Amino acid sequence: MNIVLLGAPGSGKGFISNYIIDNYGFEHISTGNLLRESIKNKTKLGEKVQSYMTAGELVPDELVLSVLKDALNNKKNYKGLIFDGYPRKIAQAEELEKLVNIDLVICVDVPQAVILDRLSSRRVCSSCSEVYSLKLNKDTKCLKCGGEVIQRSDDVPSVIQHRLDKYEEQTKPLIDFYRNQNKLIMLDNSGSSEQTFSALKGILDKELEKK
Ligand code: AMP
Repeated sequence: MNIVLLGAPGSGKGFISNYIIDNYGFEHISTGNLLRESIKNKTKLGEKVQSYMTAGELVPDELVLSVLKDALNNKKNYKGLIFDGYPRKIAQAEELEKLVNIDLVICVDVPQAVILDRLSSRRVCSSCSEVYSLKLNKDTKCLKCGGEVIQRSDDVPSVIQHRLDKYEEQTKPLIDFYRNQNKLIMLDNSGSSEQTFSALKGILDKELEKK
């Protein structure tokens, strides 16, 4: 079973992916993580995408698609895939359809005010991408791998707003795109983790029963 996670930046797609990976054994494809990795490793692709990412712009489709295809080629015998951050526009969804079958689309729903608050205190491990909140943890070393915990360059207020605007304009139309395919389920992630996980478990168990 393959799942697309839709939702604004900071809505909690990474957090939800981790739950599905840990509890259902799915594998994760986050185009954002893969692109950041290419910048860190100073690859040719990294050089091309850095300025877009720092400005909170979407990276050109052909570059993201190449990253996605490489990631898919490296996945073998998987139980299910979680697409986190791809697609971000209808043209990308159409490309994805050519590569894999998507069974379920979970749209993570959180009010903008909560997102702004979460993103400005978000910190990430520069090595393993583990996510932290400055409100809960002020350590500068990752608790999982010991890597350096940093603020993403696109998690600063001016860029955050730009990314949210891009989401509204380019990514939100995907909600209707997938609703029309009867694949869309909304998931409220504005409450406690327990509430989100319980709703998510309900959605996934029901979906897996159908298989
Ligand atoms: P994320 O980690 O998903 O928030 O993505 C961080 C940044 O990576 C985005 O703001 C874009 O610059 C770039 N990016 C990630 N996924 C895509 C995509 N599917 N299409 C275009 N740009 C992307």
